Amino acid sequence: MLIEAPRGTQDILPGVSANWQYIEQTMRDICRLYGYKEIRTPVFEHTELFLRGIGETTDIVSKEMYTFTDRKERSLTLRPENTAAVVRSYLENKMYAESLLTKLFYIGPMFRYDRPQAGRYRQFHQFGIEALGAKGPSIDAEVIILAVQLLERLGLTDLNLYVNSVGCPECRPVYREKLQEYLKGKTEELCSDCQSRFDRNPMRILDCKNPQCGEASQGAPHIVDCLCDECSNHFEQLKILLQAANINFTLNPRLVRGLDYYTKTAFEIQYAPLGAQSAVCGGGRYDGLVEECGGQPTASIGLAVGMERILLALEKQNLLPAANNQIDVFVAPMGKETQGMAFKLLCDLRKNGIIADMDFMDRNIKGQMKQANKYPARFVAIIGEDEAAQGKVMLKNMESGIQELVDSSEVQNKL
Ligand SMILES: [Zn+2]
Ligand SMILES: [Zn+2]
Repeated sequence: MLIEAPRGTQDILPGVSANWQYIEQTMRDICRLYGYKEIRTPVFEHTELFLRGIGETTDIVSKEMYTFTDRKERSLTLRPENTAAVVRSYLENKMYAESLLTKLFYIGPMFRYDRPQAGRYRQFHQFGIEALGAKGPSIDAEVIILAVQLLERLGLTDLNLYVNSVGCPECRPVYREKLQEYLKGKTEELCSDCQSRFDRNPMRILDCKNPQCGEASQGAPHIVDCLCDECSNHFEQLKILLQAANINFTLNPRLVRGLDYYTKTAFEIQYAPLGAQSAVCGGGRYDGLVEECGGQPTASIGLAVGMERILLALEKQNLLPAANNQIDVFVAPMGKETQGMAFKLLCDLRKNGIIADMDFMDRNIKGQMKQANKYPARFVAIIGEDEAAQGKVMLKNMESGIQELVDSSEVQNKL
């Protein structure tokens, strides 16, 4: 019996891996433009990191983590997201001592035990950036503009950017109370998840996807009306900076993040043609997380982009580059006697950076020409016995059909 890949995983096959390389390269190029450097952290961490860094009450931690004990009974978890791990590394490697502001990006697989659906996997991939150390609104604007520029460079238009502020530990409790006050008489109308959120995390009721919860919270007070002076100024400044950069945005008071360490700016970018899965990028400020992970208070902001969704969007809009399998030259020996010379030519060409290949399956010349066309190859270097005796090859330009007898050492110059 054949063994299949685990449920919720997918192979990225040779036919589509170039698409992944394309979006990854675009992400790397954008990060280079903005001064974000790559960090690669392990795919598994101590479970404790995610309990502290994501929060034990979240769905991710309570229902979706791949947690296991290793042979020494340590509890380890496959990373369900990467911000906590980046913060762990930032502290462990004392990056804060090297510069006041640390700008990092990552690309890699994340793991969540979620119900698989179209475009949603248990091993999925994220691109993300984290800026640790700066508290002013200009870094918030930079992070948002980077995301917009990335998506635009990939060719996605019709993007909707939503922004909100979730306040800070000073002003949020006041809002929380107002919200609970508003929802108090309506708890019967809420879904069971939201009923349990009412006490511990009422703000999450605002972004519940359940329509009945949306209705119940319809007229709820907005947090932006309850912000303290500092949070309010920060948000106003951010809006001014985005406007100055010609970035369109919409205020979305339902854009909330459930945990205490999230502060001030929250944002999301949606790509409407994706329907139910239109959110392609989400992020925000997390001024409380570094401290939560054992460091000094460090103002920070980040974002994450779901790579499967980006690919889905690009595919939908025909924005993926055409596959390029072309090679420079296909070396075609005619008969066993010239195979040795053909192989030597192949090695020399490759050594000099020429994209070259040859037949390894003992095909006749007709079969080899067919293979050369399949690539396609720009040139075919045919080596018959007569040519081989003179150290020459017949070089055929596959586009024009013109053939030319050349010295085998000259092939490279003729390409
Ligand atoms: Zn505040
Ligand atoms: Zn609900």
